[in-house]
Amino acid sequence: MDLTSYAELAVLLVNRRDDLKTLDGLRALLAETGRTEAAGRVTRRDLDHVIELRDELTEVFESAAEGDEEDVVQRLNGLLVRHPVHPQIAGHDGQPWHMHLTEGGRVGDTVAVGSVMGLAGVVTGLGADRLGICQAAPCRNAYLDTSSNRSRRYCSERCASRANVAAYRARKRGPKASDGQ
Ligand SMILES: [Zn+2]
Ligand SMILES: [Zn+2]
Repeated sequence: MDLTSYAELAVLLVNRRDDLKTLDGLRALLAETGRTEAAGRVTRRDLDHVIELRDELTEVFESAAEGDEEDVVQRLNGLLVRHPVHPQIAGHDGQPWHMHLTEGGRVGDTVAVGSVMGLAGVVTGLGADRLGICQAAPCRNAYLDTSSNRSRRYCSERCASRANVAAYRARKRGPKASDGQ
């Protein structure tokens, strides 16, 4: 199982808060991440489940961005208890045997188990400081830092260049204001 891809799903759930208000929004997100079978059978109850989960995942990223690793772990452990994993060995589409975290069941459960296990895998395998919140205000998107030197600060290229432009303008303005010349 590729835990990083599940962690990326958690990031998407947090960042698509505006789209994830309707069933169509959830369907689109699932289809976009290759989960077409799930997209085809998603229900209102799954949507409610995902919306609730999304708020909790957001808290995990917020705590990580504040450097509160104890809180990150406590929140993830709480989520792991509420979303138990039911692993199965699967083989399909010519792929070698591989693990599926949750077979069958409701889409909301599969999404929850996947994203919680994904974040737990990142925290234990790479470190809690790999989860963050975009530093380009007012953006509050979550991101996963997979850079080799843990240098990521922004959710996207767009936010990074916006922050660079703002910093450049502040530098140009800066000396005049502070030197009083
Ligand atoms: Zn599979
Ligand atoms: Zn951003």
